[in-house]
Amino acid sequence: MTTANLLEFDLEGLAAFCEKLGEKKFRATQLFRWIHQRGASEFGQMTDLAKSLREKLAGTARVEALKVLSQHESADGTIKWLFDVGDGNAVEAVFIPEDDRGTLCVSSQAGCAVGCRFCSTGHQGFSRNLTTGEIIAQLWFAEHFLRKHLKRSERVISNVVMMGMGEPLQNYSALVPALRTMLDDNAYGLSRRRVTVSTSGVVPMMDRLGLDCPVALAVSLHAPNDPLRDDLVPLNKKYPIEELLDACRRYLAHAPRDFITFEYCMLDGVNDQPEHARQLIGLVKGAHGVSCKFNLIPFNPFPASGLLRSPQPRVLAFAKLLSEAGIVTTVRKTRGDDIDAACGQLAGDVKDRTRAAERMAQRRLAEHPVTVHRPRRAAAKPGVQELEP
Ligand code: SF4
Repeated sequence: MTTANLLEFDLEGLAAFCEKLGEKKFRATQLFRWIHQRGASEFGQMTDLAKSLREKLAGTARVEALKVLSQHESADGTIKWLFDVGDGNAVEAVFIPEDDRGTLCVSSQAGCAVGCRFCSTGHQGFSRNLTTGEIIAQLWFAEHFLRKHLKRSERVISNVVMMGMGEPLQNYSALVPALRTMLDDNAYGLSRRRVTVSTSGVVPMMDRLGLDCPVALAVSLHAPNDPLRDDLVPLNKKYPIEELLDACRRYLAHAPRDFITFEYCMLDGVNDQPEHARQLIGLVKGAHGVSCKFNLIPFNPFPASGLLRSPQPRVLAFAKLLSEAGIVTTVRKTRGDDIDAACGQLAGDVKDRTRAAERMAQRRLAEHPVTVHRPRRAAAKPGVQELEP
């Protein structure tokens, strides 16, 4: 008999499931807390549930995590997990610890159909959408693994960014219940400001998100004009910059923050010239102005892209032009370089594993449920620092 994976449900879905079992709605809240707040996966652990309910659940439901194919820990504390999602597909999640927060970068699709030129996931192509359970399972596993690993009883992950593999707004129906679970006080209790959906600009879905579950929004802009953005982010041909900025302004009416974050990957000689900065200023301060912050991202080169990282002085000069125009601008620190966990590197590694090395990884998993790789601590790099406006 097929059983339901309870990670697939937000609280409303779980209440409907409990009702079908002839149980009162409040039982769903108890169950939800056991699963998400306490990390329980066995119904026998849930001692304040009636024995009769535990028996019913044992016959109809399960709490099934994703299989971990590997775990890599960077010298800077960043941890990357590779999860098996079946049929030779794998997705990654990355934990990025900082002094004042712990951020988990979560995947929404196996591969991606958008095909941005600078993104190794885009070069991999699209396999399938993740289910709600597969999205939330990344957070469920990471949070409860980290509590044990760091010997902490309180919450470790304070922020979630939907910036892993995939375009979240092209998997909308699975995304929204996952977001609601992240926000739910009976689960992870994250504030809407601390959950960020990043989109390449799926305009109609930005409008729906604003109505259904307005969380913080990041938009992958990467170019200041349509011809260049058509080339870097092919979705621009469908939703050009003007439409995208209109959608951003509409979103701000619902957003938990009073700005949109524009992500801008700095590509040597492609989009990093002073003229490009001036065009950006014209865009966000002009007729289609939008309250925003810019996050400049050092590109992580991979061979198939044919692109190079902009030199750091050029990135800083670009940031200075934006800052001087009154736009809050940061330069993203590179994290997890030694484990290929930096932005845009997700999936380059996966591609190999999901094909030639997949079976080997699975065999390793059978012998050693989690393989922890700890690179030796590297000498500090002349890393890009966050630039304060
Ligand atoms: S940047 Fe995002 S939307 Fe573009 S190909 Fe990569 S994962 Fe897809």
